[in-house]
Amino acid sequence: MGADGSRSVVRPAVTGASRNGYFREYPFAWFGILCKAPESAPELIYSNSDNGFALISQRSHDVQRMYFQCDPDADPNTLSEAGIWETLQSRVPGVTLKEGPIFQRDVLRFRSFVASELRHGRAALVGDAAHTVPPTGAKGMNLAVADVVLLARALRTMLKENDDRLIDAYPDDAMKRIWKAQHFSWWMTSMLHQLPEHNDFDQRRQLGELRSVVDSEAGRTYLAEAYTGWPFD
Ligand SMILES: Cc1cc2nc3c(=O)[nH]c(=O)nc-3n(C[C@H](O)[C@H](O)[C@H](O)COP(=O)(O)OP(=O)(O)OC[C@H]3O[C@@H](n4cnc5c(N)ncnc54)[C@H](O)[C@@H]3O)c2cc1C
Repeated sequence: MGADGSRSVVRPAVTGASRNGYFREYPFAWFGILCKAPESAPELIYSNSDNGFALISQRSHDVQRMYFQCDPDADPNTLSEAGIWETLQSRVPGVTLKEGPIFQRDVLRFRSFVASELRHGRAALVGDAAHTVPPTGAKGMNLAVADVVLLARALRTMLKENDDRLIDAYPDDAMKRIWKAQHFSWWMTSMLHQLPEHNDFDQRRQLGELRSVVDSEAGRTYLAEAYTGWPFD
């Protein structure tokens, strides 16, 4: 089983070459920090503000993870702490961030990948070896666990009941969820970030899209279901 992450050495044995698959790169990244501070809000904040995107998330009562959209070539060491807080604060109007010492900073590039095949003979791919998603929808770990649940069920049926049907169906079954998660991650990303080609029309349309989701019970339900993960058959 290839469960060895996005730089998988097992992947070429399944797909023929490491990059065989479907790939998309986005023209922006996230500047992420970990800081020692209390929570600024009881829940996650995803913000698409006039000044750009920010995500405020909580790791524990005294460690917080925060991100803002940045250039993919940004050097995480060039911004001052004061500059980072100023950027974050400007992107969450209406919320006062609780600041504290920043002890980790990184720039996360936005990439999507799906391997062309998930199984070849006795080798199968799961998790980041099989796919990567941009972080906006927080689907990476969720999807990795879902692959493992499907493959474990298939292996159990093959080994205990001598029945190959689930293992043969693993690539198709997993791909259905993977592409739904790719769509969700792309949708969250495109709905919440400012793209270089966006004009005034695109920005207003994007806010219309956001309102279509938050003002609609069906929209909120789709977002919650996709965010937490779809049920298994
Ligand atoms: C900064 C960051 C933040 C993230 N935040 C979130 C989040 O909030 N929510 C979410 O769902 N996902 C998040 N993700 C994505 C998530 O971490 C991954 O999707 C998930 O860890 C994938 O699990 P995996 O087991 O497939 O791969 P990995 O977690 O990469 O594990 C692969 C393992 O294989 C080992 N390995 C690699 N090569 C070999 C080898 N040759 N031999 C033996 N072992 C090997 C590695 O050491 C590693 O332990 C984040 C990722 C990053 C980078």
